[in-house]
Amino acid sequence: MKITVVGSMSTDFVVTTKVKPNQGETVFGEKFSTAFGGKGANQAVAASRLGVDVAMVGAVGKDDFGTEIVANLVKNGVDVTCVERVTHTESGSAHIVLYENDNSIIVIPGANNEVKPAAMTKFQSQLLASDLVILQNEIPQETNEAIIDFCWQNGIKTLLNPAPARSIAKEYIEKLTYLTPNEHESAIIFPDQSRSEVLAQYPNKLIITLGAMGAIYHDGTKEEIIPAFEVQPVDTTGAGDTFNAAMATALLQGLKMSEALRFANLAAAISVQGFGAQGGMPTLEKMKEQKQ
Ligand code: ATP
Repeated sequence: MKITVVGSMSTDFVVTTKVKPNQGETVFGEKFSTAFGGKGANQAVAASRLGVDVAMVGAVGKDDFGTEIVANLVKNGVDVTCVERVTHTESGSAHIVLYENDNSIIVIPGANNEVKPAAMTKFQSQLLASDLVILQNEIPQETNEAIIDFCWQNGIKTLLNPAPARSIAKEYIEKLTYLTPNEHESAIIFPDQSRSEVLAQYPNKLIITLGAMGAIYHDGTKEEIIPAFEVQPVDTTGAGDTFNAAMATALLQGLKMSEALRFANLAAAISVQGFGAQGGMPTLEKMKEQKQ
């Protein structure tokens, strides 16, 4: 069973401050930390911890951040043979400022924008060896489209987690095996239809995540909500990434959609009890412990 994730990798730089600087002002903040991120890397790490053979396709810069991003993937058992090191731009980064009841984020895509459709040609054998290819919206749209086309032509399953939100042509939705927006992303992709209409239009393909409520899909006969597990979250960053990776893993193992979503809800519920996107992502052993 092999999953290939084609997507973003980045470093999060997180600053906590009580005082918001005005234009031209310097202030002292409270705390600084870094974390590994990028939805692509997060989903690859989550799937790998759940015991799947995972390969990452994407790009980082030739800077130290890129070196650390790749080392973190290797540490988590992800195959990095298809991670390119590009020279003309820096590794992707997110610059997050946390105020008391507020935050602001600047994302610099850097090398993530260099994942061009040519990557698909270059890494064709990797894609062809995959049972499922996972995509998100942090690399260029034309690359996602080329990969969806290629996988569709070659009978390879695809999962698009359309985050952050951007619209997608109906032609590509038809070619995808799974589409997993949250409620906000779903409203952007399907602006003119109600949730129930679109769920019925794409049974067992469209899964809408509902945060602490769980996830909803249509099984071909009826809509079904698979409720989330009741937990005390400490940090919900990466909940969606863990959910997607776990759902993909479970479906590849042959579980029915309802069972796969229960597995995904459990993995995500464990992840929100740990800090950072990757900090709380469970291993298969942890999942088994929680089930007992
Ligand atoms: P994020 O961007 O924060 O990673 P998302 O917006 O893509 O997440 P959500 O719908 O918020 O996705 O959450 C994904 C899944 O994570 C949910 O379907 C659920 O299984 C789990 N989840 C999220 N928040 C909670 C919570 N507070 N308690 C339990 N499970 C949660």
